Amino acid sequence: MDSHSVKIEHPSPIATVNPANGQVLREFNPMSDEQVDHAVYDAHRAFLSWRERPVSERVAALARAADLMLERIDELSGLVTMEMGKLRHEARGEVNLSAEIFRYYAENAAELLAPEPLTADAGSAEIRYEPLGVLLGVMPWNFPIYQVARFAAPNIAAGNTIVLKHASQCPQCSIAIEKLLTDAGLPRGVYVNLLVPGRTVQRVITNPLVRGVSLTGSDAAGQSVAESAGHEVKKTVLELGGSDAFIVLDDEDFERTLDFAVTARVANCGQSCVAAKRFIVLGDLYDRFLQGLRERMVALRPGDPTDEATTLAPLSSEQAAQRLIDQIQQGVASGATLVLGGGRIDRPGAYVQPTILTDITPDNPAFREELFGPAAQVYRVETDAEAIELANATPFALGGSVWSGDERRARNLAARLETGMVWINYPTSSQPQLPFGGIKRSGYGRELGPLGIKEFLNPKLVRVVERGAQPTAGFFG
Ligand code: NAP
Repeated sequence: MDSHSVKIEHPSPIATVNPANGQVLREFNPMSDEQVDHAVYDAHRAFLSWRERPVSERVAALARAADLMLERIDELSGLVTMEMGKLRHEARGEVNLSAEIFRYYAENAAELLAPEPLTADAGSAEIRYEPLGVLLGVMPWNFPIYQVARFAAPNIAAGNTIVLKHASQCPQCSIAIEKLLTDAGLPRGVYVNLLVPGRTVQRVITNPLVRGVSLTGSDAAGQSVAESAGHEVKKTVLELGGSDAFIVLDDEDFERTLDFAVTARVANCGQSCVAAKRFIVLGDLYDRFLQGLRERMVALRPGDPTDEATTLAPLSSEQAAQRLIDQIQQGVASGATLVLGGGRIDRPGAYVQPTILTDITPDNPAFREELFGPAAQVYRVETDAEAIELANATPFALGGSVWSGDERRARNLAARLETGMVWINYPTSSQPQLPFGGIKRSGYGRELGPLGIKEFLNPKLVRVVERGAQPTAGFFG
């Protein structure tokens, strides 16, 4: 029994519940305010020495973490499947990608953090990238290992330390990551779990030792965190919801486009911020597209996520399944046509039928909402301009994809999409070296790639003026 599991109060908000059958597997007592304060203080003490270590030492621990992730892939992916119902091969893919992220920053952090010389007369000037201190990460359950990796790896490399509040429904993933990083050689306090429910996050933000907050989650949680952090004048990065468009311009390689359309919608059982949620199809292709999508969605096989034959997982929880059903029903009540599905699958667990909605008008709530599950919206447009207008007519602006045999035409549309990311002829995806993030209500800031490591750093100017020299410009103050 570990220290987190003594004196459980039932029902605890922090618990592992198997979404495939609703069984409560394990509960954890939330940490007290005092324990949280100790954890933040530990992280602060660790920061004072961690920031002094050479980057080469810091990244050595990241490289070991990458190795350990691969060694422990069965254990980690098993926990992911158990706590949020992810298909086994998808869970293994997530752990592999997470290891790649640790490896990317282990190999590139020194170069990314190098001082940048600037042009300056009468001497020299440079930007030095210095860590800020203790950062709070607030993470979601949908990619329980990857979300932590993309926040933790760059910031640990950069010399910050981390207190990590994971989603209440994946405590065992959270504990496994903390243990892995400790085993990889991180000194005590560099990475510390906060086993607490979301409502206590505000208090952590007000702790003066916390210097920044990164949240990945819903726009409601993002708004709450940004308000608290704004009040304290603390830097935030917000990675929030999405309602990505998948724009089909022509029928070049149409079967491939259709195969990817289904993958882009139902991978992770549709619970991805960058899942394709709105399919926007040019008029003469619309009927063929709808038919092809329907055939492929019908062919999905619901089942136990640990079974290799299963192609449709449960949603992550009973509440998630019920919320999606409510959204679909409200969409239909507001005039949408239900082409497929729309209900629960008749078996225990949080299963929802693959669903297709059409005829969604701008006054329908479904038009503006994020459907977080295997429910596709399909729209018909007649011109490229209409496709862009529709794609941009949402509060969200995370990713999107354009599908065409004509790269110039696709690039032209990509340039006019109001999003943080656009992929052409491939679903919006994530790679360690590529920045990830959105605009509008999808949040701000970037994770991964060269931009991701700079978010929580102080780009400090150091200007050296040669003795006796006089710079041409400038005033004091
Ligand atoms: P969520 O309810 O917002 O939870 C995310 C995290 O925020 C959890 O740790 C949660 O803690 C915490 N939280 C909840 N309410 C909070 C509050 N008022 N103040 C501070 N923290 C709070 O989101 P979710 O339903 O788990 O995740 C799905 C959402 O995340 C979707 O909208 C999805 O699109 C988005 N997402 C975005 C990205 C991206 O990169 N842009 C990536 C993945 C997911 P508890 O679990 O204790 O409530």
